[in-house]
Amino acid sequence: MKLTLGITSCTPEWQLLLSQIGVPSSTVDLSAASDLSHLPSIIVSSKLTASEKLNALEYLSSGGTILTEADTAQILFSIKTRFQHVRYIEPQFDDIFQTVRSGFFDGKLKLPKDATHLMSDSGQSLIQTVRHGDGVALILPGGFISGVLDSSVRRRSFSTAGPIFPSERVSRRSKGVIRTVVEKSLQFLFGERQLPLVTLSPFPDGASTVFNFRIDTDFSSEDDVKRLYDLCRQHSITATWFVETASAARWIKLYAQMEDQEMGLHCFKHRVFASFSKNQKNVWRGLDLLTGERIHPEGFAAPFGLWSQSLSKAVEHHGFTYSSEFALDYDNLPFYPFLGERFSTVLQVPVHPISTSSLRNAHHSLEDIKAYFDFVIAAHTQYRLPLFFYDHPSNANLDALNWLFERIGDRSIQQMTLADYSRWWIERSATKWTPFLEDGKIRTERSRHPASLNVQIHRGVHEWAVTEMKDEIDLSDLSFRHEAAAATESPMSVRSAYTWKMMVNDMLHNYWKFRL
Ligand SMILES: [Zn+2]
Repeated sequence: MKLTLGITSCTPEWQLLLSQIGVPSSTVDLSAASDLSHLPSIIVSSKLTASEKLNALEYLSSGGTILTEADTAQILFSIKTRFQHVRYIEPQFDDIFQTVRSGFFDGKLKLPKDATHLMSDSGQSLIQTVRHGDGVALILPGGFISGVLDSSVRRRSFSTAGPIFPSERVSRRSKGVIRTVVEKSLQFLFGERQLPLVTLSPFPDGASTVFNFRIDTDFSSEDDVKRLYDLCRQHSITATWFVETASAARWIKLYAQMEDQEMGLHCFKHRVFASFSKNQKNVWRGLDLLTGERIHPEGFAAPFGLWSQSLSKAVEHHGFTYSSEFALDYDNLPFYPFLGERFSTVLQVPVHPISTSSLRNAHHSLEDIKAYFDFVIAAHTQYRLPLFFYDHPSNANLDALNWLFERIGDRSIQQMTLADYSRWWIERSATKWTPFLEDGKIRTERSRHPASLNVQIHRGVHEWAVTEMKDEIDLSDLSFRHEAAAATESPMSVRSAYTWKMMVNDMLHNYWKFRL
């Protein structure tokens, strides 16, 4: 049996999510009288006509599974719905979504009234299951999936055992949480049919995470840069540097002399402008200084982690491979941002947005900072997220970074520059492949075969294994791991409060944003 997911309309939000998850899919036409029983599951993402509704219900009756949103479920099953503002998601006692991380949504959703899964701040669950004949459907709230296209920004607190929550201005919605809700839904629906869900691993060579140290050089002195570079060399860290070029113009050759480091562009002036032409010019002036030293960056990271369509088009105009802005996303897997009518050609690589200076600003001692990074390393490994940390040379806590680099070395966590990971991810995205289940074995057909590509095989929501992508994978040869319970984080009721400290940080942010 082909293990390809069906989808009625591959809208931009679904295209983005399915590519991140790495699940093969094909478009299905529900109006055709063809037999759909060969499809393990169908995402019904379009409005249904009367005949399409009949075919969808018949597919369900005969044991099929469907993932859809509340608007479509009103037509399919006549469910009752109601609009509600959902501030955050916090799964508890949930047999499908227990291992999904808590996160912010902060928007109006159309909720299925009889939902019993995925708890929100209102005490109301967000996801309903409907059984119909031999089949089952999961109903997500209306407006939930399009949350991944949102580009608004809020200051958010991050979970810590330290004295005050560290915070940063990041994407308003926890898009990584939306993705994992979809992943868990698909694992559940395939599992209901006793079928494995086979997806591409987000990491090469069977790694369970990868590490990168990103440095934004904002107004650092030459000595600060040298000190941080020396620390990186001491620990064999190949960091990714995003150079703020205007203040470093006199000594910019230092960056060309560094060994085994990746050079990217931060900016010329540390500003983000409203217009394409001003952004384009700022990028051009920064690039001009770097290329004068024979540095040809593949990556860009905007000042203040800001993202906008006009900036994104300016970065695209200069042919960058990737960019990295936590105002668009953080703690998630890469994706191509949607620009309203098309996808950008520049891959977005999310990082973890809390640095040692954010932690010191939140009164963390060295021991608190170590405990914080230990928690993030454990959580990201568990959620299969990259460990992409960032910092600044001018106010980095070198003692904490010395400890962090030792930790990464001790754990033998694979290092990659952001450029290496981006190039690998682009290869992953371009791989067309189809898995088949035949006599307890997974057979794969594929367009190309990057040697480092691995697949994840999920048995329901609780068990998974990772293995190299081969022509044939014998399921009985794999050692399946049990999905661990979600990491314990600070309660969302506390994390979602907007404190005086956050207000002060927002005021300072606005001051710096417009002053420089
Ligand atoms: Zn900066």
